[in-house]
Amino acid sequence: MEKHKLKNFVDSGLSTYQIADRVDKGQTTVRYWLKKYGLQTIYPQYRISGSAEEFWNWVDISEPDNCWQWKEARKGEYGKYRLDGRRMGAHRVAWELTNGPVPAGMEVCHRCDNPCCVNPAHLFVGTHQDNMMDAYIKGRIAPPPAFIKLGVENHSAKLTETDVKNIRARYSSGETQTSIAQDFPVSNQQISEIVRRKCWSHI
Ligand SMILES: [Zn+2]
Repeated sequence: MEKHKLKNFVDSGLSTYQIADRVDKGQTTVRYWLKKYGLQTIYPQYRISGSAEEFWNWVDISEPDNCWQWKEARKGEYGKYRLDGRRMGAHRVAWELTNGPVPAGMEVCHRCDNPCCVNPAHLFVGTHQDNMMDAYIKGRIAPPPAFIKLGVENHSAKLTETDVKNIRARYSSGETQTSIAQDFPVSNQQISEIVRRKCWSHI
């Protein structure tokens, strides 16, 4: 595609998805051109907005069991939608349009571990705790401190005994927990638990 043609699309405010649709190419191809020509589509969060009926126009509705991709989401990211002025995650909108308002304090979670999926059959509501637990079970996040029992005896442990000794030694010599956390596959919170011997206390 020629640069001036692509630039016209960008200048007229079309999204990557809309451009891909106009020229009958994939979004990946359009993103490649955009990068090549140093152009950028206007992509403020929640740019996509509308009514409940219009919402489904942005969904790649497929077989009932399959993931239904949010057309404007990048892989691994949540879709966003402004529903009648309310800024929401696209998956949350899909759940609400199917089931009614999300109860206070609850989150809409994915069974399929695909953030840009908005198939209502793949969504469930849970507490933040459930969501974190779910992410942990699927291996997306490190185990929350409460699940760390006795270090290596726990199969999900990401640290070795040597790591733990290292962490404590570095902390004792004055290094900050944040700085230490950068070198290990655990959070600041977990470093804090380790140096305070709230976990790995047997070492
Ligand atoms: Zn799905």
